[in-house]
Amino acid sequence: MKMRDESFSRRCAALAPKLLKAFESRYFEAYYCESADAAADTALRLIPENASVSWGGSVTIREIGLPERLHAGNYRVVDRDRAATLSERMDLMRQALLCDFYLTSVNALSEDAQLVNVDGNGNRVAAMAFGPKNVIVVVGMNKLCKTVEDAQVRARTTAAPLNAQRIAGERFLKTERALPCVLTGVCTDCKSDECICAITVTTRLCKPARRIKLILVGEPLGY
Ligand code: SF4
Repeated sequence: MKMRDESFSRRCAALAPKLLKAFESRYFEAYYCESADAAADTALRLIPENASVSWGGSVTIREIGLPERLHAGNYRVVDRDRAATLSERMDLMRQALLCDFYLTSVNALSEDAQLVNVDGNGNRVAAMAFGPKNVIVVVGMNKLCKTVEDAQVRARTTAAPLNAQRIAGERFLKTERALPCVLTGVCTDCKSDECICAITVTTRLCKPARRIKLILVGEPLGY
């Protein structure tokens, strides 16, 4: 393991017990995994066979290989990435809101255990707030910020411009006109009709209790 990775890992392990307690005090079901592989195993252990499962546009969920493992297992998978048309994709995104389990990450989290997400269409933040019976959030601790205000800044100035670059090349999502952050690398607080920062949601408490299962990962993941 590289020295930088070891330092990151050791800091995460030192922080994890206090963070888990902070999330539990806000009624989240919280886990800490040292590695991405362990996080994927933990997520799968939480999902019973035959459950309906879907996910949002998350780099983290893809990085840890969950879509492939769910397709290979005994689950009822709703996968918008397998849609043949934009209209079918939108239908699958709506179906995802009624699944037993919804998988996602977040753009940032604060040391006092609040989650921040910025969304373009709102489907991911809708699922976080209400709809799926259970939500599994997998988040690399590279997204940890001191305060909730810092987390909101990270979501807009770090995560969103990176996600805009990713989305600029995606099928169905390719924009006709490049967003300002795609051209310049920085957020200009745009009002483009294709802006990916239409809705920001801060999850301050998990309601009902334990509906959101949060898996903190001691490896950098996602944007
Ligand atoms: S420029 Fe627009 S789309 Fe890009 S990060 Fe800023 S608000 Fe979001």
